[in-house]
Amino acid sequence: MLMTKERRPAIRTPRGWAISVLQAAGAVRECEEHGWIQDRADPHARERAFEIASHDPPSGCSQEQAVAAIRDVLDSIGDTCPDCPADDP
Ligand SMILES: [Zn+2]
Repeated sequence: MLMTKERRPAIRTPRGWAISVLQAAGAVRECEEHGWIQDRADPHARERAFEIASHDPPSGCSQEQAVAAIRDVLDSIGDTCPDCPADDP
């Protein structure tokens, strides 16, 4: 049982925060049908996300942790939705 973890409504998890930053920067998009986050492979958008992370990390996170969270999300997502048929031309 996890008794020590407090629920904070504003920022869910570093990962959730990173995803919202990546979305705000336009580095990722969400599948409209399935909700999977997809990498848009836009280096400028990624740069913007890293900039946001290092200038404005979430409360309780260091800049390093914020940047690491962004990198973590980018490493863990693909550029396609796993539930969408992969028959794009
Ligand atoms: Zn999908």
